[in-house]
Amino acid sequence: MSEVIHAPELAHEEADEPKRISHWIGGQVVAGTSGRSGPVYNPARGEQTGAVDFATPEEVDAAVQAAKAAFPGWRALSLSRRSELLFRIRELVHTHREDIARFLTLEHGKVLSDALGEVARGLEVIEHACGIPTLLQGRFSEQASTGIDVYSIRQPLGVCAGITPFNFPAMVPMWMWAPALACGNTFVLKPSEKDPSASMYVAELLQEAGVPDGVFNVVHGDKVAVDAILEHPDIAGVSFVGSTPIARYIYETGAKNGKRVQALGGAKNHMVVLPDADVDMAADAAVSAAYGSAGERCMAVSVVVAVGDIGDRLVAAIEERLPKLKIGSGLDPASEMGPLVTREHRDKVASYIASGADQGATVVADGRETAPDGDGFFLGVSLLDNVTTEMDAYRDEIFGPVLSVVRAASYDEAIGLVNDNPYGNGVALFTRDGGVARQFQFDVSAGMVGINVPIPVPVAYYSFGGWKASLFGDSHAYGPESIHFYTRGKVVTSRWPDPATSKVDLGFPQTR
Ligand code: NAD
Repeated sequence: MSEVIHAPELAHEEADEPKRISHWIGGQVVAGTSGRSGPVYNPARGEQTGAVDFATPEEVDAAVQAAKAAFPGWRALSLSRRSELLFRIRELVHTHREDIARFLTLEHGKVLSDALGEVARGLEVIEHACGIPTLLQGRFSEQASTGIDVYSIRQPLGVCAGITPFNFPAMVPMWMWAPALACGNTFVLKPSEKDPSASMYVAELLQEAGVPDGVFNVVHGDKVAVDAILEHPDIAGVSFVGSTPIARYIYETGAKNGKRVQALGGAKNHMVVLPDADVDMAADAAVSAAYGSAGERCMAVSVVVAVGDIGDRLVAAIEERLPKLKIGSGLDPASEMGPLVTREHRDKVASYIASGADQGATVVADGRETAPDGDGFFLGVSLLDNVTTEMDAYRDEIFGPVLSVVRAASYDEAIGLVNDNPYGNGVALFTRDGGVARQFQFDVSAGMVGINVPIPVPVAYYSFGGWKASLFGDSHAYGPESIHFYTRGKVVTSRWPDPATSKVDLGFPQTR
């Protein structure tokens, strides 16, 4: 297999001059013409390393036209050929996983081991998509009526678009393009403008694998590009992952324009710890799930609900673990947690420590005091105890390394506050009582539930999605629901007529 050479050269740590990141349309890099661009930073150093072109509506249209032109050929490709290409993509992404991970670390900030984990979870979705010949199988009913067979088939939508967030610059696009392409759609990706390079590199890998030009396109940009996607008459389906206000906007605007839309939003994930739980296991889980990737995960635990008398022991066990966490550049193999994505985001996250203190929370650990020195967008880890549901630190999705502990007197109080929360993405329960765990899974209003598992991201052959304000639309991401989302059903009723039995019949067709 030949080497992909262009993109890794762009993954430099120090920038003499910010590199320019342009669009990928019809199988080639296309420079933007808007004159508008956004800064891309190396968050560990706090310096700008890139400038990403922001697309005009005309540039979005060029990508859509490339995808539209490629669609008839792509959808006609046999399932075995499409599957073969997906296997090749899988091999190339796997071979170049460290190059992809390096882009993630350099532009997002997450540590390399975490970035590799992100690529690995994305690879699982590509692997699932390799099974497309089986996944697209329809049903067949022979002799549904006398001499008549009925069967169902699923066909691609056409041109689909994906709009993705900064926190998983490789994996979340893979949730979308892998099943979309497998189903026979062509694709336009609008990745986050904060860390766009991984998508350009993946575009090269798809080309290298043999995906025809125009099947996969990347346009960069902000609201202008997103609105052009939402209003484009030739785009049939839109997948979105990002914050709740934007998810709601995407869902409403896309649906108004006649598109099929799935829009995954923000989260406030609770981890309920019952009095019988193993305190050390629960503390390890809470620390891992709250501070991994600096809390910039939609499945991060942001609230621990300590039930009954376990609260003091649990808070002490969490606190004891915090000074040992190693915070630093994601390229340093010793680092366990990197910086936040931008200076503005770091400062906003830090403001919740102050507001928590002002509103009566106990600041057990203050990340503002433990951030590494330098210009990087670092914040240390913070722990707020005695948080209540009226406080901003509880109500808002902080999306950073700030863990809140809410005390609850009973299981009923705990499940009540989880279910009253407007979000319903992930939730976890820590207990040794199987009966209560079963009751919890029955009671809780969330899309993904962990029983003694703090980050219950479903494996690729299930689907990923939340409830309530964490998802707009009917379909979850990847897995069986994505095959449904990226295809339309068609039912064929078929008779091979015997002219001898033909006659005129004006009655409504009935089975015989
Ligand atoms: P975001 O909503 O700011 O941006 C997501 C995408 O929308 C980006 O491509 C961005 O360019 C675009 N966008 C931003 N503002 C827009 C506007 N006004 N109009 C049109 N488009 C706009 O999200 P983010 O900060 O990049 O990512 C973090 C958020 O994503 C968090 O809320 C997190 O919970 C959520 N998230 C959710 C999931 C999930 O599966 N539910 C997964 C990952 C991230």
